[in-house]
Amino acid sequence: MITITPFGAAGEVTGSSYLVETQNGNLLVDFGMFQGDKDDDARNIIPGKIHRTAISAVLLTHAHFDHSGRLPLLVREGYGGPIFSTPATREMAEVILSDSAHIQTSDFERKQRRFKKFGKKLNRIEQPLYDADDVIDTMKLFSDVPYETEVSIIEGVTAVFHEAGHMLGSTSITLLVQDEGAVKNVLFSGDLGPLDMPYLKDPRPPNFADVVVMEATYGDRDHQSLQDTLLQFAAIIQNAVQNKGKIFIPSFAIGRAQQIIYHLAQFIRNGLVPPLPIYLDSPMAIEAFALYKKYPTLLDRESREWLEKGQIAEDLATLELCASAQQSKEINDTRGPFIVIAGAGMCNAGRIVHHLYHNITDPNSHIVIVGYQARGSLGRYIVDGASNVSIMGDRKPVRAEVHTLGGFSAHAGQTELLNWYDRVASTKPLTILTHGEIDSRNALSEKITERFGVESIKPSYAQIIKL
Ligand SMILES: [Zn+2]
Repeated sequence: MITITPFGAAGEVTGSSYLVETQNGNLLVDFGMFQGDKDDDARNIIPGKIHRTAISAVLLTHAHFDHSGRLPLLVREGYGGPIFSTPATREMAEVILSDSAHIQTSDFERKQRRFKKFGKKLNRIEQPLYDADDVIDTMKLFSDVPYETEVSIIEGVTAVFHEAGHMLGSTSITLLVQDEGAVKNVLFSGDLGPLDMPYLKDPRPPNFADVVVMEATYGDRDHQSLQDTLLQFAAIIQNAVQNKGKIFIPSFAIGRAQQIIYHLAQFIRNGLVPPLPIYLDSPMAIEAFALYKKYPTLLDRESREWLEKGQIAEDLATLELCASAQQSKEINDTRGPFIVIAGAGMCNAGRIVHHLYHNITDPNSHIVIVGYQARGSLGRYIVDGASNVSIMGDRKPVRAEVHTLGGFSAHAGQTELLNWYDRVASTKPLTILTHGEIDSRNALSEKITERFGVESIKPSYAQIIKL
């Protein structure tokens, strides 16, 4: 018998991880970090059941931190088996995990200095989960997998990685598992992208599955159209330029930041906005951008041409890449108008926190939300219209203008999710919905029943599903 047990992203959107137990060995699909508030941080452990289970292999759908973030912890605790992913996912994961190790270590050292000053001891929870050496050890375990090629994972289990159109290197994964004389075809959607994302190809699901484990992030709604979103975005910039305002865009460093830059280049090229200073204030985003150029075959045709022609340098003469902290600090003393793109995407860490600390009380500042904000994150409070928020321990009134742009998602909207599911639905697969908050999951589940006559399972954390 095969069982699947989610250890994250079950009724929520972070911490993605599935334990797959088979007669020949046990696998993990993704092992991501929980993100949000302090309670979420405390859940970033290796669950007892995973500790007790011998894991033979890990498969990684894509590099995002909420799918890869706990892998170095697993390695630190003794895991030494392979981690299968596409080469682009491996390289993206290296950027993301190294950054996390660096942040954890420097946060710890800063706290240590402060506590020393006051003669206190740090308790265990404040220790870094892992450091740069753990990430180096983790990267050694990666094993490259090409798209659409059946590869052996362990005896009795093979896998095929399909394009998921969600970020560079992202995949859905089909596991072909031998089980009591038959082969079960288990498809993990991973995170699914919308159609026509800048740079990326569209998702390409297989046309068959016995079991589908599917994300439901936007299962309850379609996104605003990208066209409308771009018009709105351009209008915000035009207005800020007129009033010499400052625009702050909290952004995931990988994927979203590059997408925003792509659109800014278009705006400037088309004369929709004047060339104004744009600060890409994220070393990680800068590194990730280099990887887009390294994997041209993963890009859609238009973006590939755009990159190869060197158009970005031409359109974005005003783009400044802020790799150093000093460059970032200098933005504080700069007059508007300008645009800052900085991480973290949900405002819960990183350079954006400093920018918000200094500018959220300024009515001539604009905070442009371009990504998902999980419950409990600073970004979510801002989006939900909080009149004041806590930033770096201080209470700050929100006087900046807050704009939420819905059309930039790297996740498929409800209709796109249903169309993706349609490709594999003919066999009425056992359907397990994950990676979505309760309402989104319920809405998608209802739609799937309505359109395909399939009842979905909506598991909770650590709920064992027998296939
Ligand atoms: Zn993702």
